[in-house]
Amino acid sequence: MKPASYLESHRTHDYPFLVRRWRAVARKAGLEMRPVVAQTPAHKLFVVKSKRLGKSDGIYISAGIHGDEPAGAEALILWAEQNVKRLAELPLLIFPCLNPWGLTNNQRVDQNGHDLNRQFHLDLPLVRAVKKLTEPHQFALALTLHEDFDGQGLYLYEVERATPYWGEDLLNIARPIIAIEGRVLIDGRRASAGIVRRKVTLKKFADIGLPEAVWLHLNHSTRTFTIETPSEFSLDRRVQAQIAIIDECVRRAAAQSF
Ligand SMILES: [Zn+2]
Repeated sequence: MKPASYLESHRTHDYPFLVRRWRAVARKAGLEMRPVVAQTPAHKLFVVKSKRLGKSDGIYISAGIHGDEPAGAEALILWAEQNVKRLAELPLLIFPCLNPWGLTNNQRVDQNGHDLNRQFHLDLPLVRAVKKLTEPHQFALALTLHEDFDGQGLYLYEVERATPYWGEDLLNIARPIIAIEGRVLIDGRRASAGIVRRKVTLKKFADIGLPEAVWLHLNHSTRTFTIETPSEFSLDRRVQAQIAIIDECVRRAAAQSF
């Protein structure tokens, strides 16, 4: 089998290459793509929006807030490349990579040494820019794509709200690609069969700082998932597992809402 281009080239940390691929997708699919904020002159963050995105029932997907977790950003562009014809019909707000400096440098943190995923309670330029773009919209679905260095399998966080829950089905769809995480305690939180499902409140995050997904849940999204692939597993399987979950989530959100 012919390897996919990203495997041939090992370019998952090549941010200009990622931006070029998104520009090509945006042009072909008729999506709006524009710079939002610059971490450095060489590291501009972009947003991609479809014309179908309205006030309600949107789909929010972001990747790359942790730059040492490249499968999410790679999966998101590959999913988009594979679905160019459908994209314009979906109400999408996409942040292809929330931490371009981190992706380029294979770092969890940003250029100032901060974990952006603990800063959504703060009024900092990047967070402010993301919030401003997100402000007019409510989302049926918010997906944030991550990886875990300690991961021993695929798992996800599903914030408790809408039922029936989707977590089990999402993992089942990706199970043939990557086995489900077996740990019952993940970052101090109880997990069951690869799912960390819980209620979240602002208070719980007072000490550690507000993650993107929690901010989305509290302000914008009905269903909120954080997907975690094990970053020591093969890149191809991590990317394919993330694509399988993105695809199923988008299919379900689209079927429910519009
Ligand atoms: Zn992460």
